[in-house]
Amino acid sequence: MTDESFTRLLVVQDLDTLITQLAHRREMLAERAGLTALEAELEALAGERAKLEEQRAVLAATQKELEAQIATINERSGGIEKRMYAARGSSTRDLQAMDEEVRHLNQRRGELEDEELVAMVDQEPIDAALGALAARAAPVEDKVKALRDEVVQSQSEIDAELTTASAARAAEAARLPAALADRYEGLRTRLKGTGAARLIGHRCDGCHLELSSAEVERIRATTPDRVVTCDQCGRILVPT
Ligand SMILES: [Zn+2]
Repeated sequence: MTDESFTRLLVVQDLDTLITQLAHRREMLAERAGLTALEAELEALAGERAKLEEQRAVLAATQKELEAQIATINERSGGIEKRMYAARGSSTRDLQAMDEEVRHLNQRRGELEDEELVAMVDQEPIDAALGALAARAAPVEDKVKALRDEVVQSQSEIDAELTTASAARAAEAARLPAALADRYEGLRTRLKGTGAARLIGHRCDGCHLELSSAEVERIRATTPDRVVTCDQCGRILVPT
């Protein structure tokens, strides 16, 4: 182990820290840009729209069903009227019966038409509410679209930085002595991504705690071929 190994170890650590920061920044892009909040708003609006559309669909189905019943009545009364015209020789009683049935059918049609009108009128406020919802959603959709483009752009910039940093990291790590690399990886996994720290003055850059003067002297006096660790956090400590 040489001085150079520890200098390289710090380079690897700095690149690992950078990679972690970049990955975190990438993950937080949508939230930082306000995109997550706007997407939630759009989702809430879509929920309201779905409810209204369901109510509207029920009324539209009712209307359609009533229209079908009215069409059946029209057909039946049309058929009877045709028979009445054709059957001039029929008895008065038969004609009266047919006339009575047509009147009855007309009455029933009137009732169904009233019901249909109610179903149609009830759809009007729903259509108005749907229109208002669409008007509220439109600017949010525009903003979401613009922000998504921005986020995608920023992501690809970060991805480029990540690619560069990862390649540099791999190249530097490959030149570390295997034992040092293994020890570093073990510590890094255990200690939130930081396995090696600088000793800056009396302070460990890993745990940010001050070391005693005696401890600092001991570390600085250690030959550069030996690994020293921070008493407080256990990280590999590299005097700078
Ligand atoms: Zn420490």
